[in-house]
Amino acid sequence: MNAEILAVGTELLMGQIVNTNAQYISERLNSIGINVYFHSVVGDNPKRLESSIKLALERSDLVVITGGLGPTKDDITKEKVAEVFGKRMVLHEESLKRIKDYFVKLGREMTDNNAKQAYFPEGSIVIENNKGTAPGCIIESDNKFVVILPGPPREMQPMFDESVMPYLQKDSGYKIVSKYIRTFGIGESKLEEMIMDLVDKQEDVTIATYAKMGEVTVRLTCKCPLSEEGFDKICPFEDEIVKRLGSYVYSTENENLEKVVTKMLLENNLTIAIAESCTGGLICSKLVSVSGVSKVFNRGIISYSNDSKVQDLGVNEDTIKKYGAVSTQTAIEMAEGVKRIAGTDIGVSITGIAGPEGGTAEKPVGLMYMALAYKGNTVCKKLNLSGDRERIINVASLHVLDLIRR
Ligand code: ATP
Ligand code: MG
Repeated sequence: MNAEILAVGTELLMGQIVNTNAQYISERLNSIGINVYFHSVVGDNPKRLESSIKLALERSDLVVITGGLGPTKDDITKEKVAEVFGKRMVLHEESLKRIKDYFVKLGREMTDNNAKQAYFPEGSIVIENNKGTAPGCIIESDNKFVVILPGPPREMQPMFDESVMPYLQKDSGYKIVSKYIRTFGIGESKLEEMIMDLVDKQEDVTIATYAKMGEVTVRLTCKCPLSEEGFDKICPFEDEIVKRLGSYVYSTENENLEKVVTKMLLENNLTIAIAESCTGGLICSKLVSVSGVSKVFNRGIISYSNDSKVQDLGVNEDTIKKYGAVSTQTAIEMAEGVKRIAGTDIGVSITGIAGPEGGTAEKPVGLMYMALAYKGNTVCKKLNLSGDRERIINVASLHVLDLIRR
């Protein structure tokens, strides 16, 4: 089966929004062995939408369409698909009731045109939308499948995962199971070198690596009949790769670094406080995205200026004068200071030059010092990061989380 993703919306063509739906759906379809051959985008224009649907149906077995399911007149995706298939639009009572209930729950008045969202091409399988008013649908006709979903990603994604994926997998008779090994601190090419022989000899299990913001993820996938669990084929490869990559591996559960750090702190009953200069609160923000972190995370102090480092963290003025704010000595005093002030088990700090200005030959852009104070010991790590300001800040925050994890 090959697929096409058709995104509908003039905003996409005008460059006002990025077509993340195509990326999301492609990734999901690929993960179950369905090849995506085309991505297309069309505006909210009846004629061009019609010809895009026809073209997609000519060249693809499965067409996933997103957008244009709203209540207004220019939202015509379902109507056009019905027209192309020569089907009538029929009312789906259950959806109408759900839409009515949705408005009652929000305390808002339902307008007549909202009822339009409860009509579907005859014979459709309706997909509930728990995050909005527009349900989606699946239409099967002449060995072609059309899936229609709303445009907003937060509505589309759960509908795709919870309804469309099981539907497509049921049809194929098999499923694809995946495991993820997440690593930090090692480059993609070095990592590949370390597991190359396994990649080369893969047969049933596919091994692929993805790099993103200083992280490399190894994905292991395996196709197996629906009745099987599938992981027994993956596990020996997983064990071998984890063994080879050693402490670069931070998760085999597809969890992010902040989640792993939080779990580690909770398990060891350790509290933490963080002093951030150049990352401006990003590390703390990542941590507080993890539910349950309140048991271990005491506070974060964003200490940007030299004054603040002295006043809020108790860094010695002379230390900054002598070594500079971006130095091992300052990082150490920041970590020890925040630990002392918060009374936590661990104090962590980072200070550095995020750029693009402010670098010197001696202290270039991307230079970072991070320190971790625990019990009587303080360790400090120096890094030279590259990239633009956003990337440097992001990667630096991940390095700090990685330091805590270790
Ligand atoms: P609504 O009921 O919200 O109007 P809809 O199904 O009609 O939903 P659109 O009007 O096409 O969808 O898009 C609504 C919003 O969803 C867009 O403004 C945009 O923020 C987001 N969106 C739509 N299509 C995409 C896409 N392909 N990728 C990412 N975001 C999208
Ligand atoms: Mg719309």
